[in-house]
Amino acid sequence: MSQANLHIVRETYLREKPVFPFCKGCGHTLVLRKLDEALDALQIPPRDVALVTDIGCIGLADALFATIHTVHTTHGRSTAFATGIALADSVLAERRLKTIVLIGDGGAMIGLQHLVHAAMLNVDVTVLVCNNFVYGMTGGQGSSLTPEGFITATTPNGNVVPPIDLCGILKNSHAPFVARALATDRSLTETIREAIATPNFALIEILELCTEYASRRNRLGGSDLRDLAEQNGWQLGQIVKRTDRQPYFSRMVPTNGQEHRWEGRRIEAIQPPTHALRKTLGVVVAGSAGERVQSSAAVFSEVALGEGYSVTQKNDNPVTQGTGFSLSEIKIGPEPILYTAIEHPDVLAILSADGWREAVAAGWMERLGSDSEVFLDEDIPVDFNGAHLKRLPLRRMFGAEWTAMGLLTMLGVKYRIASFVDLLQAIRVAFGDRAADAVKTGYDELKKNEAVS
Ligand code: SF4
Repeated sequence: MSQANLHIVRETYLREKPVFPFCKGCGHTLVLRKLDEALDALQIPPRDVALVTDIGCIGLADALFATIHTVHTTHGRSTAFATGIALADSVLAERRLKTIVLIGDGGAMIGLQHLVHAAMLNVDVTVLVCNNFVYGMTGGQGSSLTPEGFITATTPNGNVVPPIDLCGILKNSHAPFVARALATDRSLTETIREAIATPNFALIEILELCTEYASRRNRLGGSDLRDLAEQNGWQLGQIVKRTDRQPYFSRMVPTNGQEHRWEGRRIEAIQPPTHALRKTLGVVVAGSAGERVQSSAAVFSEVALGEGYSVTQKNDNPVTQGTGFSLSEIKIGPEPILYTAIEHPDVLAILSADGWREAVAAGWMERLGSDSEVFLDEDIPVDFNGAHLKRLPLRRMFGAEWTAMGLLTMLGVKYRIASFVDLLQAIRVAFGDRAADAVKTGYDELKKNEAVS
């Protein structure tokens, strides 16, 4: 963190006189106070903290903090949201954000894959797993972290299933920072501070008690947590601390800041918006599986993003990935897109018989507006006429594999979303010279026949 960031604007990151909503003695209060102390020790401006909470009692935490960015997410998904936030900050912004997840043991189990994946990627996210051994908010049911013998709502005679070792799983997922602590530990503030300070993925499993559902049933107090850890063989303290892993974003962004990289593909840096397109355009492309409909839509969308537009893309295909239809819905506009569905497509492109069948089955033909343009490959044997229908030899001109990309290139130029040269360059980077040559040849042929405006 640069010197310029080292100015503190609040004495506490918690709201003034916070009223903790938790039951008396709940470990969550202790954890949040220590998180506040750790942030204070780091003196991170509140605007540079993103707090992501999960479902459960701990999910009430975001309302208690005065940090600017808080996100309350669905069951187990907090780490996935945090991963996205951290990556966006690392790749597209100033890399100042510290993203912190607050999740319970229930959420950690529901979202275990998100934890594993964030550790594998090594994103700058700190996860505090508040493990009180039960699903507190829903009535004290056991989780996969409930110790053997523990009495819960679902194990009234004592849990007979051994718990998983969460820290062990994260260690084996290459997490660079893993620790286990007690909510009552004096050193917890320092452990949280260290975890947040590291530029790597960090997870602390914090053992605490749900006083409502765990303490009384199991006759446990805060002072019993250490014994509980010992009985279960749970190592306390720092378990992993390594500095040899590269953060994931370093694979995407070279240090000159001029361009963005994604697994070897080169995407031009985002340009200031030019917005030749004045209103949001809804494009539906329906073709066949294996004919690069969705990957072409992705390349087209990336180019539009690079031109400063807002873009959304939704894909659809049958459960069988390699047969039947393949469809992409793309929305592009000069303003943020707050509603991603396309009610009436501005452009419906039907590239194959599979695409036609799906367009009919999914009701796209009925949703055409009076101004909707329809592009239909001329070899599809259907009887359809419309005011703005264009039957073109798309498959013959571009070849089946590059029909979607060719059609989208035509649209990109027509609606002045990007130049032909930029689109062709993106195709070359994404798919190689053969694809770019096929699209250029097809485009030139269609232009010669005045099919391309
Ligand atoms: S139910 Fe349990 S976890 Fe929830 S606030 Fe009460 S003590 Fe805390």
